[in-house]
Amino acid sequence: MIIVMQKGASKEQIDHVIDRIEALGYKPHPIFGEQRTVIGAIGDERGKFRLESLASVPGVEVVMPILKPYKLVGRELKTEPSIIKIGEHTVGGKEFMLIAGPCSVESREQLITVAKSVKEAGAQYLRGGAFKPRTSPYAFQGLEEDGLKLLREASEITGLKIVTEVISRTDVNLVAKYADVLQVGARNMTNYSLLKDLGKIDKPVMLKRGMAATVQDFLMAAEYIASEGNTEIILCERGIRTFENATRNTLDLSAVPIIKGSSNLPVIVDPSHATGKRDLIAPMSKAAVACGADGLMIEVHPKPEEAFSDGAQSLLPDEFAKLVEELKKYLELEGKTL
Ligand code: PEP
Ligand code: MN
Repeated sequence: MIIVMQKGASKEQIDHVIDRIEALGYKPHPIFGEQRTVIGAIGDERGKFRLESLASVPGVEVVMPILKPYKLVGRELKTEPSIIKIGEHTVGGKEFMLIAGPCSVESREQLITVAKSVKEAGAQYLRGGAFKPRTSPYAFQGLEEDGLKLLREASEITGLKIVTEVISRTDVNLVAKYADVLQVGARNMTNYSLLKDLGKIDKPVMLKRGMAATVQDFLMAAEYIASEGNTEIILCERGIRTFENATRNTLDLSAVPIIKGSSNLPVIVDPSHATGKRDLIAPMSKAAVACGADGLMIEVHPKPEEAFSDGAQSLLPDEFAKLVEELKKYLELEGKTL
């Protein structure tokens, strides 16, 4: 339910409503707007009619239901887009989030080389998996903590912020120690216990869309994280499985404006995993900017033919730099900057 306070409601009145929400067994989520305060009361849907009694509490203007199943990540309670701060950067506002780097962290030389080149080209974030969720148990599984240490070192050298994946609940604190943004991969989008744990940390989470997830499934997964307190969530469209096999997945770009209209969270696009093909990265990146994406995540490798994973979809550093230059025109049209 949304409890809309009257314009000019006093702090005591707001605090009283918050206490009443808690006493009824719901979690209060106040949003202090310029005009008025609204308080979300989130919890068990079955007993929510009990919150209607708050309509007669002093300072309350109206109590209304949140119609969508996703409450905190939607637009009914929080009508403005969320802008997430990551160090000196922001995502969700005018600044475009550009994440680049290898699929996997393979060696110090590989990582530092890519980090320097993507920084030079204009990226603000370095990606690289230290824990890899591979389809085959016999494929490279990642350097684990050694990989995380290399990512931190690359960040210290270049100033890039680190985006890296966490695949298991037991590693959440470890990954949070090294990463600036924790990535949840497509294969883990419905790992609700992992999502709940990520809801308790104080670092932003980048949640990738599951291969067979509808937009609503995707937003409900984000709601799991938000419901535990962490609302710093960046959504990533990375393609879904369809009958089409000309590309690795089918990039659902229509999801971007759909999500921007129904969620307050920023949305970025990963054209690398969406297409699986180097030649498609540039056109799909431009299309992502044009349809309102808040950022891109692109795989870059100095020697794609020798990559431990996803070489065929990785750009060479020079190709990435050229793409960033081309993207600047598209970003300008959208009123965004790097
Ligand atoms: C990745 O970004 O490293 C990755 C494994 O992607 P996805 O989870 O989208 O398959
Ligand atoms: Mn990859």
